[in-house]
Amino acid sequence: MPRALVTGVTGQDGSYLAERLLAEGWAVDGLVRAGDTAGTLVPGVTVHHGDLAEPGLFRRLLPEASPDVVFHLGGLSSVARSWQDPGLTADVTGAATARLLGAAHALGASCPRVVVASSAEVFAGSGVVPQDESTPVSPTSPYGAAKAYTLHLARTYRAAGRFVSAAVLYNHESPRRPHTFVTRTITRGVASLVLEGGPALRLGNLAAVRDWGWAPDYVEAMHRMALADEPGDFVVATGRGHTVEDFVAAAFAAAGVHDWREHVETDPTLFRPVDGPALVGDATRAREVLGWTPTRGFDDVVRAMVEADLARVRSGPATP
Ligand code: NAP
Repeated sequence: MPRALVTGVTGQDGSYLAERLLAEGWAVDGLVRAGDTAGTLVPGVTVHHGDLAEPGLFRRLLPEASPDVVFHLGGLSSVARSWQDPGLTADVTGAATARLLGAAHALGASCPRVVVASSAEVFAGSGVVPQDESTPVSPTSPYGAAKAYTLHLARTYRAAGRFVSAAVLYNHESPRRPHTFVTRTITRGVASLVLEGGPALRLGNLAAVRDWGWAPDYVEAMHRMALADEPGDFVVATGRGHTVEDFVAAAFAAAGVHDWREHVETDPTLFRPVDGPALVGDATRAREVLGWTPTRGFDDVVRAMVEADLARVRSGPATP
């Protein structure tokens, strides 16, 4: 039975990945922070408590879990939060990858395969649209800089002979997306407004363009990366860009509201300090090498999130 160690196992992607691997007969070990998590802990995961900021975490965890594959998905995952806490971001989103790859490399012949989550944000300042694996790395946020470090570390350990792949992930969503992200802010806000007469939505830059996909599809891509013949960098994206305004309109439409403008206020304090051009990915390499294609388009993703939030509101007391 293959064994996986998943960091960030309580997060959106980690929880879908754990479900997927367990269903296929893998043993899944997961890193979980001590205390309550707002995330999803999938039954059947063997829990290891720890924090990515711990210097000796992976020297302890790798021998304990003895994985064939490590999926490194944990870390601070919000661009906005990274501006508030750049030092923590550098440590848990950047340096933790170095500690993981260093500990894995030190195992020599027993070094597991590793798939690390990087981000489209590494290309935010590139000026190139769409972006692919050859696009110059040019982050414009502390989060993007930490993910650029993660991407460079994957390349470094790969050059040193290790099976390390980097998933350069574009935005991907689901009903498990934390509500601190704009997409869940929108779908939760729409559900509350429609069913409870909740307040108008306060949003930042409605013109920002992102490439939004369906989270379980992105987990599928990372799973395929772990099983591929060769390691590499893989852009994982739908190839289609939409504005935040498109997302808002689609979310209200999914809830049966078409005059959405009267329910939305723009708040300049919510704009990013730097917001670059469109982040839209070209996933040709993932399609050709991994046989990966996304299964859900933009409208389906938005509708699934709105329907889940409407169901949550209807079912009573507030849930995450
Ligand atoms: P997520 O839902 O925010 O999950 C993050 C996970 O990391 C959670 O399990 C969280 O634990 C854990 N974590 C955070 N800080 C930690 C720490 N100090 N020690 C241990 N665990 C910690 O993120 P996601 O959407 O699943 O994304 C997975 C990965 O892909 C992340 O690395 C993210 O940056 C990257 N990525 C995501 C997207 C996207 O659109 N979703 C796009 C590009 C890249 P708690 O439950 O305790 O908070």
